[in-house]
Amino acid sequence: MFALRDECSRMAALSQYHDELEQEFGKQIFANADQHRNVENSDSIRLRMEEAELKLQYRKWMAKDTRDEEALYQVFRKLIEVRCELAGSLGYPGYIELGYQIQNRRDLGISEVAEFRRQIQKSVTPVLTEIKAKGIGFCDVPATAANADELMQTITTMYQNLSDETADYIGEMRRKELYDLGTRTNKRGNLFTCCMLPVVKLPFIIGNYTGKGMEAGYAVHEFGHGFAFYTAARKQPLYEFHRSSPAVNEIHSKTMEHFMYPYLDRFVGEHKKDYIRNHHLQQLENLLYRCAIDEFEHLMYDTKLSRVQLCELWADISARYLPWNRIPLKEIHQGTCWPRQTHIVESPFYYIQYDIAQISTYEFYLRMKDNYEQAWSDYMRLCSEGGSKSYPELLKTAHLSDPFTGNTVENICRPVIDELLSIL
Ligand SMILES: [Zn+2]
Repeated sequence: MFALRDECSRMAALSQYHDELEQEFGKQIFANADQHRNVENSDSIRLRMEEAELKLQYRKWMAKDTRDEEALYQVFRKLIEVRCELAGSLGYPGYIELGYQIQNRRDLGISEVAEFRRQIQKSVTPVLTEIKAKGIGFCDVPATAANADELMQTITTMYQNLSDETADYIGEMRRKELYDLGTRTNKRGNLFTCCMLPVVKLPFIIGNYTGKGMEAGYAVHEFGHGFAFYTAARKQPLYEFHRSSPAVNEIHSKTMEHFMYPYLDRFVGEHKKDYIRNHHLQQLENLLYRCAIDEFEHLMYDTKLSRVQLCELWADISARYLPWNRIPLKEIHQGTCWPRQTHIVESPFYYIQYDIAQISTYEFYLRMKDNYEQAWSDYMRLCSEGGSKSYPELLKTAHLSDPFTGNTVENICRPVIDELLSIL
């Protein structure tokens, strides 16, 4: 289906109606088709197939109960080589440049992303190090809902009260029973996700609720993705515009986690403060971890690193971003601790987008506290635009700062960190 859709947009881009289509639907309509043209030639198709086969092998090795580290490394090594060859065959100086192109980063360069990581490290690492040194970590937060049905009831109440738009959405979701939040034998565990149903323009939400308070937040997050899709699909004529890139889609869902705050007593009762503390700690630690992964991705394609060198590299990066998380020397010398984050293999240079979205999410959160009405109307505007505009244009639509200019990261993270410190 994706291949067919790509083919359609390519034909449209090459057709005699190119200009008329752009006039009707905006410049964004051909942004993706243009991007494909820059990352494909006849050689690349063979190498792409090789890459897909290696990803499959990697997945198989990862799924095994007893892991053969050397075999896993060999697949990883080969994958890096194939990607570098692919970049060379397409005329890119290295795989990083091609990776950026595949991620469709027109306005964003390697140095901007490095500066973004630097600001996060500077703003977050020292504070989290202090908090961890005091032995403060995540704590268990029980939820009030005893089962998935009760959780759905609480989510319904929240969405009904939040706004007319979310009330309509949750009503539709309930009428059509487009969710499955319970845990069952043989159902895949540990997963909260959201699938989009393009024809009915509604999502389907999947979860594995086991009664933990933080899981209620994961479910609200997925319902947030669904709401954004539901909204854009009703405003935007083209399916391509019903969603945006993860750097924007994750703003929709993560911000919904903050619109949940006024309803927290319904979700977690008296544990509201613990929930907020966990939530902030988790988001801040994730910010750092993703930066570490992104930096690793920028260095792993550079040279032919051995297994041990790959581990040394990761230990060094990880020690800078997450210094409380020391990797044992033994693991480094055995060559078993290079990061197993699947995104590195499955979708290079993708992971940092969650961090980019987190900064805008914090900005929305600060706005909510300051001017709730404004925050909601900006949020609705962002959801309504879907993927019909470029990333910088979408930020402007929602009156959001560009996370890549000035001290945006620091200015936005500071008040959130202060709030966390005040509730420790
Ligand atoms: Zn998400």
